[in-house]
Amino acid sequence: MRRLWDHRHRRCRRPYGIGLHALQHRGQEAAGITAFDGTHFVSQRQLGHVADNFTSQKLIDTLKGHSAIGHVRYSTAGGSSMRNVQPLFADLATGGFAVSHNGNLTNAWHLRRQLVRHGSIFQSTSDSEVIIHLVATSTYRSLYDKLIDALRKIEGAYSLVILTRDGLFGMRDPLGVRPLVMGKLGDSHILCSETCALDILGAHYVREIEPGEIVIISGEGSGQTVKSIKPFAPQNPRPCIFEHVYFSRPDSLVDGLSVYDVRKRIGAELAREAPVDADVVIPVPDSGVPAAIGYAAQSGIPFELGIIRNHYVGRTFIEPSDHIRHLGVRLKHNANRWQIEGKRVILVDDSIVRGTTSLKIVDMVRQAGAREVHMRIASPPTRHSCFYGVDTPERSKLLAARMDIDAMRDYIHADSLAFVSIDGLYHACLLPEGRNNQQPQYCDACFSGDYPTHLTDQENDRDQELALFVAP
Ligand code: AMP
Repeated sequence: MRRLWDHRHRRCRRPYGIGLHALQHRGQEAAGITAFDGTHFVSQRQLGHVADNFTSQKLIDTLKGHSAIGHVRYSTAGGSSMRNVQPLFADLATGGFAVSHNGNLTNAWHLRRQLVRHGSIFQSTSDSEVIIHLVATSTYRSLYDKLIDALRKIEGAYSLVILTRDGLFGMRDPLGVRPLVMGKLGDSHILCSETCALDILGAHYVREIEPGEIVIISGEGSGQTVKSIKPFAPQNPRPCIFEHVYFSRPDSLVDGLSVYDVRKRIGAELAREAPVDADVVIPVPDSGVPAAIGYAAQSGIPFELGIIRNHYVGRTFIEPSDHIRHLGVRLKHNANRWQIEGKRVILVDDSIVRGTTSLKIVDMVRQAGAREVHMRIASPPTRHSCFYGVDTPERSKLLAARMDIDAMRDYIHADSLAFVSIDGLYHACLLPEGRNNQQPQYCDACFSGDYPTHLTDQENDRDQELALFVAP
């Protein structure tokens, strides 16, 4: 789910929405902003894209204040109704509390059941709301202590920005599964999921928020201070490797690495691991482009844009229903027949999830006259669902969970199919020894099934819990 952005800006030209606009690729269902002027909190939440909803001056003028947090949502938990649009807000004993959450909690339903038993009244079906109730019901006195108390109870992946009258809090879970970075524009500090949101504001990158770190930004202008605390026992970080494969924008810096460079190196690894005699390397745009550049450079086979993408269609995968997804992929890509006809084609894409995209693209390339079609995938087979905020479907819908590679090849109608190895992927992330299987350096659960946290809600009978708390 969701990506966040937070901004403290002194003289209010209010560039609200611009940072969120740069993070639109991370969630397209809904967007929201909460601003604080020192006394009042004001929120605007809308279904749909940032550019369609947060450009009206009238709306922006309602968001008065010197600090704000925002959010773009794509639902991995809780569904896409208005009541789940973030930032979530509550008036607590300690004052207003607005929260934007990137990630997914793996014990949210379990906690929710306990909280409801003790009288909490939930407003949404979002996993993120448990954070508010845990803070509200904590018996500690100060907001800091209540927050830490709450964080100690949650499991899973969370990068959070929280706007309160005591300042802005930014934090990452102890494994640092989801990203969060800090930047600066003049005297103002900015927290956001990806550095591309800093670029659009003309802000400079300062650093990542570390796994398990909480930063508290308070004061205004040149008096602004940043305090850092680390209340958890240190653990080996497990940032999500899928950020490099697919999720982050290629112009972002993630885990200190250029996403674009990592993707090119994955392509080069793939060319070394799975070479094939062919005439042309063609990316599945946009997500396959950097890896295809790397594959072409390593193999010496020419790179061509043999598939053209219609840029007025959003990411297919992110549209929730299967029907829209099927329609979406046809609207999105077209074969550039003059680069394909009579050729042996290597197609490069970042991943295969359900196999819908690959099947359609391979057929399209064949219909455009390709002699052979070889599919190369810049990640290992996605065999397991993600419970940490990347929207993969249930396991039974993952092509690689249902079939071996030969069967997948036949299913997508390709002449050959190969995936980069997990070690190849780690090499591309500048880990020459590959994956340390005793102490993996990333969360790669979608490929390995090695989940770095408890999956409490999966272990319990989640359906039964859902039946208890979700109105029909
Ligand atoms: P599928 O058609 O279901 O096999 O999905 C694969 C396509 O969706 C690839 O071309 C990826 O670029 C893209 N994709 C992979 N994972 C995700 C994700 N978690 N969210 C959105 N798109 C994705």
